[in-house]
Amino acid sequence: MGYARDVYDEAEKKLERRRMYNEQALEKRRQILYQRSPRAEELVHLTAKTSIAAARAVFSGADAKNELEKLKVKNLAYQDELHQILLKFGFPDNYLEEWHKCDQCGDTGYVGGKMCSCMRTLLRETAYERLNKISPLSLSDFDSFSLDYYSDSLLNGGKTSARAVMTKVLAFCRKYAYDFSENSRSLLFQGGPGLGKTHLSLSVAKTAIDRGYGVIYVSAPAILSKIENERFSGRGREENSEQLVLDCDLLIIDDLGTEFTTKFSVSAIYNIINSRMIMSKPTIISTNLTIAELQEKYNFRTVSRIIGMLDRVEFVGSDIRQQKRRERKTNGGK
Ligand SMILES: [Zn+2]
Repeated sequence: MGYARDVYDEAEKKLERRRMYNEQALEKRRQILYQRSPRAEELVHLTAKTSIAAARAVFSGADAKNELEKLKVKNLAYQDELHQILLKFGFPDNYLEEWHKCDQCGDTGYVGGKMCSCMRTLLRETAYERLNKISPLSLSDFDSFSLDYYSDSLLNGGKTSARAVMTKVLAFCRKYAYDFSENSRSLLFQGGPGLGKTHLSLSVAKTAIDRGYGVIYVSAPAILSKIENERFSGRGREENSEQLVLDCDLLIIDDLGTEFTTKFSVSAIYNIINSRMIMSKPTIISTNLTIAELQEKYNFRTVSRIIGMLDRVEFVGSDIRQQKRRERKTNGGK
């Protein structure tokens, strides 16, 4: 799959940083060893010297063979002594070599003129990161989700409270994130604004990313306008956000229903959700709308089909953003 030029540039920069890190790490290891054994430093320099001398001998001509043989014996003796020192301090054999994140390509991104698999992964991750940035949200975690904002009085004469329901929702989302795999179910987060849907979906995203999954988190309006722009400007061939959202391990679409509805947006959203369903790839959708409102906004069959395939998670309570605003006002008035 093709990526935008910037994605390649950014991935190349990341590899360059990796290589720089490798060099610095080797230098640090050297210093640690030299501090413990000045002889090791001496031996490293002597080995380098014999290599230079060997190169000179090749060009000197006269008795080169004999000279080279002598140097080789010397060099082996130095290396052997160095090896013994490493062993004595409990360092591994490759302690004085550069350590790479990818041994196949030595962090150059290419093997035998072909792109290494690590570079492909890096490109994919970079493209996801860029797409995630179009929604100005930072990832949250489960630990900062406070149940204090949910009332423990019974809901509408029922047997349960908002806090009890949300305690279960929090536990469910946490478990979903920690158990997440390609086979996870798709979810529909539903409930009014300010009930924590965004917080919990960002926490799921963060956990899945930390566990190594390719996650794209976007708000419905942002991704739809991006896809529309790419399609109608002809840039879609080099920067294909639609393909990225179809391919990722977990797609989270926040705020479905807040986008400006056009024929294009309705068919694009349907295509994304439906294609991922067919490929059994998990998707999480969050919306403030009720089923009836969704059906009014999109088409009835589309909505029924989508709803039928998602596990519904209902968020209850009263708007946390409003509660926080009130708290600030009350505190400020004092
Ligand atoms: Zn590699």
